[in-house]
Amino acid sequence: MTERRNPEGTTGEEAMAGAIGAGSPEDIGQSTHAASDSIQQTVGAARPESGSYMFPAFDAHHPPDKDLIDDCVHCGFCLPTCPTYVLFGEEMDSPRGRIYLMNKGLTEEPMNDEMVRHWDLCLGCMACVTACPSGVQYDKLIESTRQQVERRYERRADDKVFREMIFQFFPYPNRLRAVAAPMRLYQRFGIGDKLRRAGIMQRIPARMRAMEALLPDLPKEEKIPDLTGPLGEMRRRVGVLTGCVQRVFFSPVNAATVRVLAAEGCEVVAPKQGCCGALSTHAGREEESLDFARKTIETFDDLNLDNVIVNAAGCGSTMKEYGYLLRDDPEYAERAKAFSAKVRDVSEFLQELGPVAERNPLPVTAAYHDACHLAHAQGIRRQPRQTLKQIPGMDVKEIREAEICCGSAGIYNMIEPEPAAELGERKANNILKTGAQIIVTSNPGCMLQIQSSLKKMGRDGLPMAHPVEVLDASLRGDPVETLLDK
Ligand code: SF4
Ligand code: SF4
Repeated sequence: MTERRNPEGTTGEEAMAGAIGAGSPEDIGQSTHAASDSIQQTVGAARPESGSYMFPAFDAHHPPDKDLIDDCVHCGFCLPTCPTYVLFGEEMDSPRGRIYLMNKGLTEEPMNDEMVRHWDLCLGCMACVTACPSGVQYDKLIESTRQQVERRYERRADDKVFREMIFQFFPYPNRLRAVAAPMRLYQRFGIGDKLRRAGIMQRIPARMRAMEALLPDLPKEEKIPDLTGPLGEMRRRVGVLTGCVQRVFFSPVNAATVRVLAAEGCEVVAPKQGCCGALSTHAGREEESLDFARKTIETFDDLNLDNVIVNAAGCGSTMKEYGYLLRDDPEYAERAKAFSAKVRDVSEFLQELGPVAERNPLPVTAAYHDACHLAHAQGIRRQPRQTLKQIPGMDVKEIREAEICCGSAGIYNMIEPEPAAELGERKANNILKTGAQIIVTSNPGCMLQIQSSLKKMGRDGLPMAHPVEVLDASLRGDPVETLLDK
């Protein structure tokens, strides 16, 4: 079933790779372990099968849309930007291959382990959506396919338990805080390093090891006020999404967002709120994600806001999709559409608004990393760069293979640690080649992933920041060392 790609690549792929600056075809399948160990993962070798063969593959509730499947003309232009194709060089681990499997599922094949494995390995990064000249809506296709998989496919017990554990913690800041407290002690006493030196860490399951490695330094949580007035004349009244992981692990990003918005003339409302549902949406947990979406709409809807501002790329892309996600809900469909129309990524919003606050110089070289859910899913590439370049003294460097995912992808780096680690290492290497003094990116997941990859490579001294943290430092007139000592 798995068709191996021609290692020479096609003329079309090479032309496209050159045109968009993608990883060139000669890079494909040549990353650290791709040609040896991780190739096994694509066909599920060494993984016990669940024994689940569901026929027909899809039920009648939003199967992958045949018309969208037929939009794919199999040209292969998407292949060089697909991280799993770049790693494994396997046709069925490309967008084209996954769409082919969806079509098979619609017409003739049961949903089986191998098929699900290829879909599971997709990072949902949407680089293929950017690259596709035929406008194939792979985002909608994989979303409906994942919902079908979650509803109909019987995962192995250990896989099910691990996924459930993630979804019982990550969308709930209070539960995350409860775990963060002992984790701070774990970090303070260097227990992880001791376990590694004693050889104990290597014996725990790879997924648990990956979670441990992703744990950031946990600062004390910085609270933000429910209401912050504008500095000077009020230009907009906005709400901010404080997020789940963002709120607990990266609270300084939220605090910087509020200060920057206020400095640019916004009244900022930060209501008590829950998860926006991004992680559940990307994992195909439909009911759960819709529930989170409805609650988020309820939270912000009556606050008389001009916009809802989001500083986490994955959350923003999902909230802009609420109108589509809730299309079947007669009570929420219209409200969801109106809500989505107000959602803005913070850099997008700042560029729409135009700068008024004085920028103080920050003489620093920064490598800007495009989060996939900002660049590919929302098409936002210029605005964060512009936000940085408006600061006198900032030198913004581009990263080679910018369109290729860092391997974070929501919960991907926890459930698929091996390919995620390869992608992380690849991204970290490309970042290091820029010679930048600081890495700037707009998504907490990317920060965790890149930090963890740099740490593994012994380069964890390189600081990271969100674009609003850099802008905040400039507006406050902080010395550049404030950023570099982060
Ligand atoms: S979403 Fe990303 S990983 Fe998935 S098929 Fe598209 S490019 Fe490949
Ligand atoms: S998804 Fe788009 S780019 Fe990829 S093979 Fe199909 S038509 Fe070509």
